[in-house]
Amino acid sequence: MARYTGARCKLCRREGQKLYLKGDRCYTVKCAFDRRSYAPGQHGQGRKKISEYGLQLREKQKARRFYGVLEKQFRNYYHKAARQPGVTGENLLRLLERRLDNVVYRLGLAASRSEARQLVRHGHFIVNGRRTNIPSFLVRVGDEITVRERSKESPRVKELMERAAENTPPVWLEYNPDQAKGRVLALPTRDQIDAPVKETLIVELYSK
Ligand code: SF4
Repeated sequence: MARYTGARCKLCRREGQKLYLKGDRCYTVKCAFDRRSYAPGQHGQGRKKISEYGLQLREKQKARRFYGVLEKQFRNYYHKAARQPGVTGENLLRLLERRLDNVVYRLGLAASRSEARQLVRHGHFIVNGRRTNIPSFLVRVGDEITVRERSKESPRVKELMERAAENTPPVWLEYNPDQAKGRVLALPTRDQIDAPVKETLIVELYSK
């Protein structure tokens, strides 16, 4: 399964804002964006003029990077969103939010989406009673996400469960710390999704 393995801080610097891709480090003085808030590379501090297409492209790249999705899969999400009734941009973000790795992250059971992805890949979660190791698995309303019994012995998973107990999940999710179980109460509306993305620009880009 393909995934981006390059420098993640460079992605924040390229997009001109913090995308919180590295978990706890993002909240410390070590954050590369806080130290060098300009684009990487030789011309990173150079010309800033950007075309309309450039704006749309940057917005799409930002969304991809925020959710850790590669181009082909992101395009598939767009086509799926466009076929659904309602506003395409909102549908797109809703699909991205429904990814299992994102839900695990939102529940507080991982410090970042990339950690959530790794934990899911390693089979630490059960969805509706079945072990699920597909980060792109799309959750539905009523789905229950539980930490696998054996995984509760892992020091890192224990640490994350304590973290989740103190975390406040978004209103469309609930978490029961005693059972280490999360539940999808509803699908998120746009105002419940805190992605720093202007989805209309992404729709404009793909609908050309
Ligand atoms: Fe982005 Fe986090 Fe790196 Fe800061 S530490 S640049 S927020 S990934």
